[in-house]
Amino acid sequence: MQFHRDGFRPGDPRIADRPLPTDVDVLVVGSGPAGLTLAAQLSVFPELRVALAEAKPGPMQLGQADGIACRTVEMFEAFGFARDVMDEAYWVNEVVFWKPDPDDPRRIRRNDRILDVEPGLSEMPHLILNQARIHDRFLEFMANSQSRLEPHYGRRLVDLEWGDDGPVTARFDTGEAVRAGVVVGCDGARSQVRRSLGYELVGDAANQAWGVMDVLAVTDFPDIRYKAVIHSADEGNLLVIPREGGHLVRLYIELDELAADQRVADTSLGLDDLIATAGRILAPFELDVKEVAWWSIYEIGQRLCDRFDGAPDPDGVPRVFIAGDACHTHSPKAGQGMNVSVRDAFNLGWKLAAVLRGEAGPDLLHTYGAERRAVAQELIDFDRRLAAMFSAPPKTSPDDPDGVDPADFQAYFQQQGRFTAGVATRYEPSTITAAGPAQELATGFEVGTRFHSAPVLRVADGRPLHLGHVARADGRWRLYAFADPDRAGLERLCAAAPLGVDLRAILQGSHHDIELGDLPAALRPATGRLGLIDYEKVFVADPAGPDVFDLRGVDRERGAAVLVRPDQHVAGVWPLDAVAEIAAFLDGFGYSSSNGAA
Ligand code: FAD
Repeated sequence: MQFHRDGFRPGDPRIADRPLPTDVDVLVVGSGPAGLTLAAQLSVFPELRVALAEAKPGPMQLGQADGIACRTVEMFEAFGFARDVMDEAYWVNEVVFWKPDPDDPRRIRRNDRILDVEPGLSEMPHLILNQARIHDRFLEFMANSQSRLEPHYGRRLVDLEWGDDGPVTARFDTGEAVRAGVVVGCDGARSQVRRSLGYELVGDAANQAWGVMDVLAVTDFPDIRYKAVIHSADEGNLLVIPREGGHLVRLYIELDELAADQRVADTSLGLDDLIATAGRILAPFELDVKEVAWWSIYEIGQRLCDRFDGAPDPDGVPRVFIAGDACHTHSPKAGQGMNVSVRDAFNLGWKLAAVLRGEAGPDLLHTYGAERRAVAQELIDFDRRLAAMFSAPPKTSPDDPDGVDPADFQAYFQQQGRFTAGVATRYEPSTITAAGPAQELATGFEVGTRFHSAPVLRVADGRPLHLGHVARADGRWRLYAFADPDRAGLERLCAAAPLGVDLRAILQGSHHDIELGDLPAALRPATGRLGLIDYEKVFVADPAGPDVFDLRGVDRERGAAVLVRPDQHVAGVWPLDAVAEIAAFLDGFGYSSSNGAA
């Protein structure tokens, strides 16, 4: 038996490698968090020909990012694996701040504790879990999808070539070439796709070295199972991130600044330096490292790409996109790496699917760069400030110009809680985000922000659930109709036009007083080959509270129609009888649903 003729390939050599397809609608390059989110989203549309190419020989096993913000867990719910991730992960509930002991600055002392996430910000927790396990979930989702999509490993993209008006040709180190209608570079900070576009990451040089290690250790440091921010007087700063499983802990250690053009690979920094530095920062506590599961020293700078998309004609419809670290890099301090990357891809995925399936006009694709570059810019600005505060030594006196008072750091960290939880993103008005025609009808569903879920009760079976969790990652627009007391407005909405969106109604009163058969047919549609009734369209406020109308500021007299994009962001709020306006809004980006009207 002969094998490895075309280079080493791990795994069972009896399983033949699948060749890359030669023609696809979408080629995704890179299977990090961004590439996997995008591929998973596209995999629900079997009519799209999608390939995912990854340079590494197989799936990730260990390491890299581990923080999963509340908003990202909300997004995972749409893919159906939030609960699995929550079961396995560490939950960040509180953060503890340590600073030098004023009586003996060689020792650290606990300074304060705060809640990690402001109450009510999200129904989902802030989690810590190995990035590789998130990858596994996406891989599972793709493998189970109608497309049965799997990555092609061991394929390094070498270059891209524009066809004049036709597909883009992508060449790989295996000698294979793929002609793709659209190419998306999710290929990380050193993106070849970005390079092929002639774009650069612009910003600060990658001059800060970071050490990270996942360790099993015995220690008397009392907060080893809390997220802890530790500022020592002279030994540097440390971030303690407890990990899943009750024992593993991640330590982030800020190392020395690198000289201009110096790379971490050129330094002699190693694991022993990390362990020794962590031990010194934690003094007087002991840290006895028993096993190191993963470690890395890497350099980072806050950098951003000017454009997130490209086309042969700069003003034409984009045919190449970049997402995730290919567009922006920043420090790991606020745990945003994986989060912002998956949300880039979630923003792009439904738009690509809608345009390629003829559900929207091609101009929709321009909104990806416009929306996500603004988010990335905010992230870079935030991270620059946080990084500077984290790295600065503790203030020695009120006049010390270089130092930062750990209390100020804590205050900034707290203030930015909505941002780090991922719920502060508000997309600007555009063809897919209305300029807020009737925001006052539902003040808690702020246009442009993500749909803030709330507890409700399903009328057909009396089951309490979260309203936001009815949204799946299926590329569909949803209209949540909050009914007026006599339902006259709701009935006009239902009668006027199906609009081709997924309509849900939230009624007032008790579910015991509602007969489903009396409701408009649009709220109990016949579905599938057998014409079975969909019983899952109608809800009331959860009697166990809190009441969704109160919680989200919905006008009880007039009700409200809340239109939500496939990526769960609120597109607009209208009065219930504004069907013509909602239809005009959807027409504005050429919307026509091929997803079925139900
Ligand atoms: P990546 O996760 O970088 O994925 C890019 C993928 O593309 C990789 O699988 C890569 O193999 C593949 N690829 C690259 N070039 C090609 C090519 N030419 N052809 C085909 N495939 C290609 N973030 C944190 O929050 N905390 C951390 O501790 C942390 N540590 C990190 C340590 C290291 C060594 C690195 C590299 C990153 C770290 N990050 C960390 C950053 C975090 O992992 C990223 O922000 C996040 O993974 C971004 O996701 P992404 O999908 O955009 O890119």
